[in-house]
Amino acid sequence: MVEKSATRRAEKLCAVKGMNDILPPESARWEAFEAVVRALMRGYGYENIRTPIVESTDLFVRSLGEVTDIVEKEMYSFDDRLNGEALTLRPENTAGVVRAVVEHSLLYNGGKRLYYMGPMFRHERPQRGRYRQFHQIGAEALGFSGAEVDAELILMAHSLWKKLGLTGVELQLNSLGQPAERSQHRAALIAHFEIHAAVLDDEAKRRLQSNPLRLLDSKNPAMQTAIEAAPRLLDFLGDASREHFRVVKSILEANDVAYSVNHRLVRGMDYYNLTVFEFVTTRLGSQGTICAGGRYDYLTEQIGGKASPSVGWAMGVERVLELLKEQLPADSAVPIDAYAIVPDTESLPMVMSCLQSLRAQGVAVLMHATSGDGTPSIKSQFKRADGSGARYALVFGADELALGLVTVKALRDGQGGQTRHAISESSHWAKSLQSTA
Ligand code: ATP
Ligand code: MG
Repeated sequence: MVEKSATRRAEKLCAVKGMNDILPPESARWEAFEAVVRALMRGYGYENIRTPIVESTDLFVRSLGEVTDIVEKEMYSFDDRLNGEALTLRPENTAGVVRAVVEHSLLYNGGKRLYYMGPMFRHERPQRGRYRQFHQIGAEALGFSGAEVDAELILMAHSLWKKLGLTGVELQLNSLGQPAERSQHRAALIAHFEIHAAVLDDEAKRRLQSNPLRLLDSKNPAMQTAIEAAPRLLDFLGDASREHFRVVKSILEANDVAYSVNHRLVRGMDYYNLTVFEFVTTRLGSQGTICAGGRYDYLTEQIGGKASPSVGWAMGVERVLELLKEQLPADSAVPIDAYAIVPDTESLPMVMSCLQSLRAQGVAVLMHATSGDGTPSIKSQFKRADGSGARYALVFGADELALGLVTVKALRDGQGGQTRHAISESSHWAKSLQSTA
């Protein structure tokens, strides 16, 4: 054992800027939210997929596009010193999911509906709703070409807001058409912005020839008038693309999902075509997009697989929870059923086997544990029991134990009623401790 006087306190270490700890009781909100999402995914037949947090840098460069915010300036990339591979902490997970689907031939007998949850990493300026490690939940439907799957994904997100009671979330839609349609639009776009060259910032000038669509995504106030007046992609779409968009919209209308068409909505990655969408709120300042996605029919080929039209979305968990926080009371954690008040060390083996048997019967039990020397008094353990939020105290006092009994004391009913039970017959009384919540 290290003597207290001999240990010297080392300097405190802090988390990396923009990367947050999620602590209790806030973490309970995360768990509850994830449980709602899992049930939602089950309801639509989406299966869970878990891919690595680190992927080859090339995967993201090839799929997101070289001239994008993420690839140009937001990726945490590094060389694995041991074998010289260029690696990147995933900034998003569509690329990783598609990589896994292609690598393991998951589409061999038809389409697949998948979802994931987990941390993503982008080197951005940290602010409310924008972090360097943040979390996304994503849903991807791979190997399906029909507009009904675009609509299904949108309906799924929409029903999540409903289930959570989130209000003030607006749906914006656009269609990016197909590559051939986009290249005609691209020429018109370049011509338009060349006329307005005077208002373009350096980034826009640099991207004008390589990726003019990105200019529509710019938040620079000086460029907004020129962006509003820019040629609209929808005007360049052929019949098939228009029809696809029409079907998506008609399904949404039939389901009373309100939307608006936003001609400037182009999304931040290059892999999208046809339908793109964002769910936006005005309540989070300029970090108002809580869920965004679209169709990416050509991505599997770009990653070396066979053509498999696909569509998906990703949701920013921090932003959704921030919105929920405004609406929900802070402490929504389900309280523990019972707090175990324990005697001296001698009796702990017997007490703990009783607790194990209660837990095996579904009772949530928090056992008192000492933080100093010796077992604290029953009185001070009771204080802890009260503070824990538990509905019952299980008192394993010396008197009770001598008779093979435990006292169950209600902590929350106001009268503090108590009963005694035989430890060896816990199957007769365990159920009475369980919360019905
Ligand atoms: P923004 O325009 O806000 O930068 P984005 O277009 O870069 O968003 P996507 O790549 O589409 O975002 O990611 C999907 C969702 O993930 C976003 O709508 C948002 O809710 C969330 N998100 C993206 N970047 C961050 C971040 N740095 N911190 C927290 N959430 C984020
Ligand atoms: Mg971004």
